[in-house]
Amino acid sequence: MTLESKAKSVVAQFDYTDDQVNKAVKEFLRQMDEGLQKDGTSLSQIPTYVTGVPNGTEKGLYMAVDLGGTNFRVCSIQLNGDTTFNLTFSKVAIPKDLMVAKTAQELFAFLAKQIELFLKEHHEEHFEQHVRRRMTISSPDGFRDEHVFRLGFTFSFPVQQIGINKGTLIRWTKGFDIPDAIGKDVCALLQDEIDKLHLPVKVAALVNDTVGTLMARSYSSPGKTSTILGAIFGTGTNGAYVEKLANLKKPLTGEYDKSTGEMVINTEWGSFDNQLNVLPNTPWDVALDKASVNPGIQMYEKRVSGMFLGEILRLVIIDLLKNKDVAFFKDENSSSNDWKSTTNIVADSSIYTQWGLDTAIMSVAAADSTPELSTLRGELENQLGIHAAGLDDAQAFKAIAYAIGRRAARLSAVAIAAIVLQSGKLTDPEIKDEPIDIGVDGSLVEHYPYFRDMIYEALAIIDGIGPEGAKRIRIGIAKDGSGVGAALIALVAAGME
Ligand code: ADP
Repeated sequence: MTLESKAKSVVAQFDYTDDQVNKAVKEFLRQMDEGLQKDGTSLSQIPTYVTGVPNGTEKGLYMAVDLGGTNFRVCSIQLNGDTTFNLTFSKVAIPKDLMVAKTAQELFAFLAKQIELFLKEHHEEHFEQHVRRRMTISSPDGFRDEHVFRLGFTFSFPVQQIGINKGTLIRWTKGFDIPDAIGKDVCALLQDEIDKLHLPVKVAALVNDTVGTLMARSYSSPGKTSTILGAIFGTGTNGAYVEKLANLKKPLTGEYDKSTGEMVINTEWGSFDNQLNVLPNTPWDVALDKASVNPGIQMYEKRVSGMFLGEILRLVIIDLLKNKDVAFFKDENSSSNDWKSTTNIVADSSIYTQWGLDTAIMSVAAADSTPELSTLRGELENQLGIHAAGLDDAQAFKAIAYAIGRRAARLSAVAIAAIVLQSGKLTDPEIKDEPIDIGVDGSLVEHYPYFRDMIYEALAIIDGIGPEGAKRIRIGIAKDGSGVGAALIALVAAGME
């Protein structure tokens, strides 16, 4: 079989047809509703106790940290009250060994240390002032309350939220696995480590990154309509949206403001359709799931988000390399029986190990429209040690990567469409012709070429949306979404103290 025809047959397996998309939207709506009725369903539909979205007039200086997946971000945000803000920012990669540390304390001590470093670097005066004050005041935490930073803690894993700054971890996702942390209040874990370092910081709000994205986009989005959905397409994927309280049937334990008639719901859509009623399931999806830390869970996320797309592609490539009948990245001069030795890939290439292919190279593939695919071939060499990839090799790589990316975008459209339909905004006569605003964040939607275009293409074929409806949906990047959003929720929380 030629490489071209083999690649075509692989590509076909990643096809997700218009019919399948429409069926999936109906199933998404059904699972959303189920999650609003009771606990323990596929879509967790977690109430956040946030009952309104900002309008851009909010003001003040706040801190925010974000534990999202690949990186830990620390920032301070000055909200100017005119839909603009100033943000100071630092970012550090989470050491892999801490993602699977023995105790939660090890991870949270690292996070508190990063907060200390940030304060020393960017708020030295503020920090020094408090250090001095501590020496002169006998109370153990001798900081003046007005000088204590209110911090929004964006923690993008499923938590059972009990209050605005209290929530227990339900399960880890995205490669984290510290069993000791399950069931513990993550705000208390962080506050304890902050207190050990005597920092003038109070963890005021626990924020899911999707809620932060929604808040940030609503603060800064143009026009008078507020944002209905915040969605992340980064290491993982998830969305939070504004739901009518009347539709939320499961009991709420915490206090909240009932006057708005709405509450932000964190869908935890990464686990949409864990039963695989409507999700596609190629042999490579099966293999990826089997080798993951959480088989059978986060099945939607495993087909959509940055952490997994590269791994799906890697598994396809390994299969093709092992296939004696297909000449893929082959070393023409080798007559070895060992499949690895017949390739022109260096023996220690990361392509041979789990997670060894970063989704970012799929963006390189999609962006390279040179006739010789020279940029892509250069990256294959640099990142994966694939020497002298032929044009046909690079074309097959590009075609398969594109098919995986396109399927992910069409699956993303399923979630977005379901929430647009659930909101009823398309048929609301009061906002006729107004845009329906959606805030998004994450490397995939920001950097993967045509990802948004592919989402729009799918939205236009969805029943109840169509080409006209798709035009009204405005998908905009929520710039620095999690930081600003966390600050906005810390502001709301500070008002409730
Ligand atoms: P996080 O979700 O951890 O906050 P990001 O939004 O930056 O962080 O997402 C990181 C994920 O995005 C990683 O899985 C990475 O492989 C993937 N990624 C990074 N750059 C790109 C890119 N240019 N194109 C597609 N995926 C990317």
